Amino acid sequence: MEKLIITAAITGSRITREITPHIPITQAEIVQSAYECWQAGASIVHIHVRDPNTGQGTQDVGVFRQVVEPLREKTDLILCLTTSGIPGRNLPTEDRIAPVDLKPELASFDAGSINLGGTVFINSPEFLDRAAEKMKETGVKPEIEIFDLGMIVTSLRMRDQGKLDEPLHFQFVLGTPWGAPATPKSFLHLHEHIPDNATWSIIGIGKGHLPMSMMALAMGGHIRVGLEDNIYYSKGVLAETNAQFVERIVKIAREYGREIATPDEAREILSIE
Ligand code: ZN
Repeated sequence: MEKLIITAAITGSRITREITPHIPITQAEIVQSAYECWQAGASIVHIHVRDPNTGQGTQDVGVFRQVVEPLREKTDLILCLTTSGIPGRNLPTEDRIAPVDLKPELASFDAGSINLGGTVFINSPEFLDRAAEKMKETGVKPEIEIFDLGMIVTSLRMRDQGKLDEPLHFQFVLGTPWGAPATPKSFLHLHEHIPDNATWSIIGIGKGHLPMSMMALAMGGHIRVGLEDNIYYSKGVLAETNAQFVERIVKIAREYGREIATPDEAREILSIE
């Protein structure tokens, strides 16, 4: 079976120190946590950054640069920068896609709108067209985030219109309180709709993390871990680092007999070389 790509989602934009004291907030903390994940076996890190004054998510390219540059110096990680901004706060399109200017190898691409945390995370057709256009111009591969089946339909239509290039790479986000549940049946239904030549990874939110990771392990997909998606290491026990999650998946995958992809191997698997 293909080697396993582990992505670590370091911080997201919504989790505060009140929710868990272990969430990386400053640029230095984000860099350090990503570095530890790389050492533990992650080949991709999914990056949000926080406003140093408020601790909230920001799409300020200057702040992103303070995370991107040290990681490029110290590691060979694949960087996947967010274009979601602060989901639900719906920043202007050009602000959301500004980090693409730093030419990461991947950028997140949320392929439709969804209710999220009492508000609506808007990804309008206009936003998707503009984000796809900018990623194409800059040679950044979209990581297509899928919360529901309609988002796959949208992505395939954009592929047919020449806006997204194959092979597509999907990131399934299962188990949010507003989208597809983190169950095998739910996932299999979504999986049936992606093209055979697509690559995919899976996020199980919260308690969905390990069950969905095991689906990916067995089915030849890839796995995203990290505090953005899940703050608990086990029931009622907060994770203290992102690397803990990477280490656990590495251990399980090795026992299972699936090798872990290096960043260069991940580039080959995802056709981003
Ligand atoms: Zn994110």
